[in-house]
Amino acid sequence: MDLIFNIGQEGRKLSLLPGCDVETVSISDGLRRNNPPKLPQLSENEISRHYTKLAERTHGVNNGFYPLGSCTMKYNPKVNEETASLEGFAGIHPLQKESTVQGCLEVTHKISQYLCEITGMDSFTMQPAAGAHGEFTGLLLIKAYHVDRGDMNRKKIIVPDSAHGTNPASAAMCGFDIVSIPSSDDGCVDIEALREAVGYDTAGLMLTNPNTLGIFDKNITEITKIVHEAGGLCYYDGANLNAVMGIVRPGDMGFDCVHVNIHKTFSTPHGGGGPGSGPVGCKALLAPYLPGTQVSLDENRDCHYTASEKSTGAVKQFHGNFLVNVRALTYLLTLGREGIPEASSNAVLNANYMRVKLADTFDIAYPGTCMHEFVMSLENFKKETGCSALDVAKGLLDYGMHPPTMYFPLIVHEALMIEPTETEPKEVLDRCIEALKEIHAKAHEDPEHLKGAPHNTVIGRPDEVTAARNPILCFSREV
Ligand SMILES: *Cc1c(COP(=O)(O)O)cnc(C)c1O
Repeated sequence: MDLIFNIGQEGRKLSLLPGCDVETVSISDGLRRNNPPKLPQLSENEISRHYTKLAERTHGVNNGFYPLGSCTMKYNPKVNEETASLEGFAGIHPLQKESTVQGCLEVTHKISQYLCEITGMDSFTMQPAAGAHGEFTGLLLIKAYHVDRGDMNRKKIIVPDSAHGTNPASAAMCGFDIVSIPSSDDGCVDIEALREAVGYDTAGLMLTNPNTLGIFDKNITEITKIVHEAGGLCYYDGANLNAVMGIVRPGDMGFDCVHVNIHKTFSTPHGGGGPGSGPVGCKALLAPYLPGTQVSLDENRDCHYTASEKSTGAVKQFHGNFLVNVRALTYLLTLGREGIPEASSNAVLNANYMRVKLADTFDIAYPGTCMHEFVMSLENFKKETGCSALDVAKGLLDYGMHPPTMYFPLIVHEALMIEPTETEPKEVLDRCIEALKEIHAKAHEDPEHLKGAPHNTVIGRPDEVTAARNPILCFSREV
């Protein structure tokens, strides 16, 4: 496909703008560039075709099924986009006076309150821009809490081996040492290993529940109690709340701090580097350290910015990715109090439906009821056919479906992690189940064919190592 710089002709342009009807001002020569920039020169028609072609070369939720485990690629209702593009939300400036942005402050206040209710926390900051950014922010709060009490020895964060990779990375960025603890045979935290790991130097524990195996840890209240008794705090990685929203709350499980991925659970577009939002909530004991400003209501129901007394400092300019939060609030108000737990229940139902239907063909890593996702191990399949989890993932692309997450979590070999989400109808789940079974059968007959998959996509199989190590990300040209 041609780059945009290689199409069009000199002098071709969009001429939709009206002629200038205000006085022109000339810019002094010292501020002017010597040569005009070499921008692409295209007609509107050519631009439209170019971007349509680009869009056809990728796969999004609008193209088809996207069961990418841990990423919650649910459908994003279009009404969210409509509210986010309302002039009163999209056309404001963060430095406007409080009195002129009361509606926007009310949105921020409302979404924080709803998140408090869903997670069982007392306060929220809307500043962090993504999940990992939220983890970093939450750990800063935990660090500030210990330091403020003069408890300087608490330098260790305990992380189970099933954790998302961002957990140990965020802890390390905050200057903590990481203690990894194993999972027991049922995929839950090994309680004895946890008892041995905690001590006077424990700053806290980071946990995802349900974890990345899709398992809800039955010992959760005991786990948080063990950490608290050792003087540590408990951080809940709530990147996806899709199995639990409106059903159980991290605050009731014993957690002190949580981040939520608005761009996963609360249905705003993600992937491809678009704006996300990873607000952080905490119990009252951590609230004095929250970054930036929160919005509070006075007795006249007027909204004001208030700064926390011992703030750890801003982690992003202003108030986070505001329009992402508008989308999330729209989603919450659309679903309402009954719709939110129903969405979670359907996410769990869809995952269990696929798990049970696939269990006669594939090895399920941890059998038993799962939450919003489950993990299959293709280790035996690989021994039988020579084909890997990667080959199966690539094969699925030929059916117009996005592959599941591969090789994660690390404790399952040849892992494929499937998260169908609640927004898919049964026919789509059935088609994916059939596709995976067909790929399985064909791999036994003709493994070489699967190793060459995908055969029907615009781009076949790039060399993974070259693509990762030597990506060509820049187009250089004279400007
Ligand atoms: C997605 C995810 C994260 C990271 O979120 P980002 O917004 O991508 O930074 C962290 N933990 C878990 C369990 C996740 O699924």
